[in-house]
Amino acid sequence: MTNIPPLDLTQQYEIISEKVNTRVQEVLSSGRYIGGSIVDDFEQQFAKYINVSHCVSCNSGTDALFLALRAVNIGLGDEVITTPFTFFATAEVISAVGATPIFIDIDPQTFNLDIQQLELAITEKTKAILPVHLFGQPVDMTQLMAIARSHNLIVIEDCAQATGAEWHQQKVGSFGDIGCFSFFPTKNLGAFGDGGALTTNNQAIAAQVRILKNHGQSAKYFSEHIGINSRLDTIQAAILQVKLPYLDSWNQQRRNLANHYHKFLSNITAVLPPQELAGGICVWNQYTIILKSQDLEATVESHFSNSLRDWVRAQLQNQGIGSAIYYPTPLHLQPIYKFLAHRQLPVVEQVCHQVLSLPMFPELSTLQQEQVVFTLKNCLQEL
Ligand SMILES: *Cc1c(COP(=O)(O)O)cnc(C)c1O
Repeated sequence: MTNIPPLDLTQQYEIISEKVNTRVQEVLSSGRYIGGSIVDDFEQQFAKYINVSHCVSCNSGTDALFLALRAVNIGLGDEVITTPFTFFATAEVISAVGATPIFIDIDPQTFNLDIQQLELAITEKTKAILPVHLFGQPVDMTQLMAIARSHNLIVIEDCAQATGAEWHQQKVGSFGDIGCFSFFPTKNLGAFGDGGALTTNNQAIAAQVRILKNHGQSAKYFSEHIGINSRLDTIQAAILQVKLPYLDSWNQQRRNLANHYHKFLSNITAVLPPQELAGGICVWNQYTIILKSQDLEATVESHFSNSLRDWVRAQLQNQGIGSAIYYPTPLHLQPIYKFLAHRQLPVVEQVCHQVLSLPMFPELSTLQQEQVVFTLKNCLQEL
């Protein structure tokens, strides 16, 4: 039986193992495991890559978002507009600083927040917009920034799934006041452990983040704020230094794979492949299709009392093909956000029952892709 995982991190390590092992060994022998020139150099290299003047590293994408909100003084009583279709951390940090997440519905073509609904959600309490470039697809930052500027709102970009993605030849993470990145192993630029970073062109924000990520200390043993401890390990910085030069080619491989998927899937009934927004470069952290057909849904419901998406996923699994559901429950329907659930968001509430993310990682072979598509086609034809 074929066995195709939704993602496989071991192949990438194989390719770069010699360089990684050498750099890790150097760190181990140096006796310097926290901070140092390796972390400083990585910050500079990453700032250059995103084309911003400052990069501050930290322990995770979640910390990056938390520090960003703290650095611009978002807190109790403030509202932050964001998407309900994202990893929980995006909204969690808004609540963690004492502010309230305001969820608006999504655009089913891009899975990103629906810009048309943005202005309707702005109130006198709105302090910031927190767009997420979900699955690697950039948000239309031209429109978003125009709205933000006209209402004097801060913009914090969640770029966790979109390292290297571009909107009109400009990297995400360089449009808003702050860009937040995750180096979690499954992200486009992944460490071998946790890691994160903030990017900004604002010197004062960068300085404030450096204070907050180091116990609020503006000088050694002199704390002016309640901060946190959030560091990118030296070992992880060394690994990221090895990986950064490969990022564009890995993203290009993802784009090639996405193009193959588009071609293979374009004329299968019931499958809606994702589309790249004109003007954007998507880096396909996930390749997420929508499964939708009134006829097939009725058939699956009556024969298997299952939803079309869940049935297809089980069929693929039986044939050794992994897939994933990002995300099964929108954030406004999470138990902790029950108090916000009176806002109905019909698009995301439907989409979360229809999405299926197919295997996607740079080392996936065309042959494996053909097997994924062949199996998907077959199981839909069976109906
Ligand atoms: C992964 C992710 C995060 C959190 O990053 P961590 O490094 O895991 O803390 C935040 N937002 C989105 C959209 C993510 O995918």
